[in-house]
Amino acid sequence: MGEINLFVQAILQLSIFISITYIVINLRPLSKGMITNISTKDKLFFNLIIIVIIVVGTYLFKGYNIGLHYLAILLMGRIFGSPYGLINGVIMAILSYYLKANLYPLGLESVLLGIVIDKYHIIGLDNIESKLKRLVISLLLATVLIFQDNFILSLFLNTILFWSILSVIDVHQRRIKFICNKERELNDINLTCNSLSGLHDINKKLSSKFTLEDTYEALIEIACQKLNVKVGGLLAQSEEEDSYLDLKSLKGLDKDLYREYWKRVKIKKGEEYFGYHLTEGDIVIINSLVKDNHSDTKLFVEDGFNSMLLAPIFVEGELAAIIFFLDQQESFFNNFHKVAIRTVVEQSPLAIEKAEFFEKMERNMAGLSTLQRTSNTINSTLNLDKVIDLTVDVVLGTMGVSMAGLFLLDKHDEKLKLVSSIGVPTNKETKKLIKLAEKTASSLIESNSVLITDKVSEDIKNQFETLNLISAVCIPLKVRDNMLGAITAAQLDFPRNFKEADKSFLTTLANQIAIAIENATMYKQMEDLATRDGLTKLYNHSYFQDALREEIAEAKGSNSDLSLMMMDIDNFKEFNDTYGHQVGDRVLKCLARLLEEEARELDIVARYGGEEFAIILPKTGGASVLAIGERLNDLVRNMIVEYDNLRLKVTISIGAACYQAGLSQKELISAADTALYQAKRRGKDQTCLAEYE
Ligand code: GH3
Ligand code: MG
Ligand code: MG
Repeated sequence: MGEINLFVQAILQLSIFISITYIVINLRPLSKGMITNISTKDKLFFNLIIIVIIVVGTYLFKGYNIGLHYLAILLMGRIFGSPYGLINGVIMAILSYYLKANLYPLGLESVLLGIVIDKYHIIGLDNIESKLKRLVISLLLATVLIFQDNFILSLFLNTILFWSILSVIDVHQRRIKFICNKERELNDINLTCNSLSGLHDINKKLSSKFTLEDTYEALIEIACQKLNVKVGGLLAQSEEEDSYLDLKSLKGLDKDLYREYWKRVKIKKGEEYFGYHLTEGDIVIINSLVKDNHSDTKLFVEDGFNSMLLAPIFVEGELAAIIFFLDQQESFFNNFHKVAIRTVVEQSPLAIEKAEFFEKMERNMAGLSTLQRTSNTINSTLNLDKVIDLTVDVVLGTMGVSMAGLFLLDKHDEKLKLVSSIGVPTNKETKKLIKLAEKTASSLIESNSVLITDKVSEDIKNQFETLNLISAVCIPLKVRDNMLGAITAAQLDFPRNFKEADKSFLTTLANQIAIAIENATMYKQMEDLATRDGLTKLYNHSYFQDALREEIAEAKGSNSDLSLMMMDIDNFKEFNDTYGHQVGDRVLKCLARLLEEEARELDIVARYGGEEFAIILPKTGGASVLAIGERLNDLVRNMIVEYDNLRLKVTISIGAACYQAGLSQKELISAADTALYQAKRRGKDQTCLAEYE
């Protein structure tokens, strides 16, 4: 009978335990706690509540304390793992003593369950099939729970009990693990979705920006939004000094003030930034700027900021920018901010590269259009003098300097000559400056190199008292292998700030100038060939005829004076016969030079025929032309032509005629000719003026 009772009691207990187990396991928060981590604080709290329930329950329902046993074992051992099982066991043992309740096995079971069940694997049963494992553990636990005299039955029932409980737990644990894994996967997907939509957002905002400045601004704007902070900024490569960083964007603070500050603080590339060496992927949090007390962040501290987050942006392995964010609160930034900023940092290089590319393209376009305009200007004329003047104008205009000069190589002595300059200050140091430019140009031509600098050497600077030379440019002009000269330019008092792009632009500009100068020079040579006489280099007969036609028209139009002189060397046949034609030629050349030197700028000196010359004298009347002729007679008479050891002299006869209204070109020439004939007849070496009836 007693055994039947015991059996019924055991069955009853079994159903209660299984029900409780189901309830416990299906309470989601508790089940989840089996697998996912709940905080230590929460674990302790739950544990305490369970202990209270068990103790009170045990005290109130002494007869069913076995049932509560299982509940305790289940909750404490399974849910909270071995350390809690152990602690509970100790607590139970103590309580059982004070409450005189039979709680000691409960404590023992807690310990065992805590250690054993949760840590199947640590008792070396890993390789045994799980059902066998479960059986072994159930047996082990059952031996602890012998509560009746009938040992075998008790052992049998208890083993079944534990077996069932463990089976239920195992199945549920697997189910819960599965659910939790799914939940985690879902979370991951969610996170990915979020960051993807964030990415899309960033990309959309960044892709609408083209210039670097706008891109920097957008980056900081987006990042501030993501971090939920008001103040942020960006440092990037300074345009003025290669190795320094400059403040490029600042949100929430006075940009100008901080820019000035940064210029003074000077953050050097490749060194520490705000006290940190930043490498790719770094995101640094400074919890207290006040405690950090770094010189770079002094102004932030003065403005009341105390925490900072900073991150470097690398483009192709090179530091391109540093972004930073500030907050007044100490330790404001945390891991959440780090994660948030990472997406921005990862998207930035692409945006920066795009903007850099765009700006470069824009600069190139601007450079090309300037180049096209300037080359159009320079090539608009083939007149060498005009090209030379335009060149210095263009150099001054496009280089943005205060003075420019053009040196050309003289074909005869291979020396550089300053053919045109603009903006050169005239004082006692002008000559020295030109000499310096010439020396620099000639050494650069020799070494075939280019000088473009914002830092004229101290040696050179010290040579000048009144001129403060800062930037200088000297580019040789070369077409193919033909050196033409050099363009030089300089800036006084402040640097011109030449950039790499300027350098290539200026070199290309110099090439354009060189081509224009060569074209004009070649044109001039061809023109000379057609209009000048090969021996004397004076204008030839046909040019003389054309020029005289134009001058007559001009004199007619403006009703001004015009005279013509025809001259012929006296007894030249005899001279040739005596000294030979070569000496004769030398005389012709010397006479040509003399006539050219004596003539005014507007006079046209030509070789009319063999040993006959003509001079067209615009704005010159009868009285003056006679005087001029006589002066020429005088000069020629005293001219000595040296040849070998000979010192020879010649004389000339001159016939002059003044233009009169109604006279044709032919008539004017023939009037001068007649006067020349008259001079010959009168005894040569003299000037006769034509008289009209
Ligand atoms: P006149 O005083 O009357 O002018 O006597 P002339 O001997 O100079 O006579 P004319 O003017 O007729 O002489 C022309 C001479 O000039 C003939 C030739 O020997 C010389 N002649 C002409 N062209 C050249 C030249 O290109 N070179 C040289 N050396 N002599 C020239
Ligand atoms: Mg003659
Ligand atoms: Mg003659």
